[in-house]
Amino acid sequence: MRQSPISGGSGSNDFSSSRSVNEVRGLALDSISETTDVLERDTVVFPRFLREKCIGCGRCAVSCADGGHQAIRLTEDRRPLLDGSKCVGCHLCVLVCPQRAIVSGRKRIAKPKPPEEREN
Ligand code: SF4
Ligand code: SF4
Repeated sequence: MRQSPISGGSGSNDFSSSRSVNEVRGLALDSISETTDVLERDTVVFPRFLREKCIGCGRCAVSCADGGHQAIRLTEDRRPLLDGSKCVGCHLCVLVCPQRAIVSGRKRIAKPKPPEEREN
């Protein structure tokens, strides 16, 4: 049976309640802003690495170095190590991992200051 791409939200698998495109059109407009000034910048959700799934391909480190914030380095056994003072929680690394060995940490925390901004 082919399922509708509109599930009715909240992870429901009951597709009998699917709504038409016209019913859902514009529902997210209240979430759109003309500026990025409204974005939360003081907290971050870090990625979480599942070491047992990792195959050491290094794709996360390369992607973060190239399109992220240079927050991952590989250990000697090619396992990713996160620098929390650099990570912005963009989750690019989550997207590129072929093993699904990186997931969202799901916990929003105050963003650590980089070493040069910390008080001694
Ligand atoms: S991309 Fe995934 S499998 Fe590859 S090194 Fe990073 S965590 Fe490990
Ligand atoms: S969430 Fe973004 S900045 Fe943080 S480690 Fe992953 S790719 Fe790098």
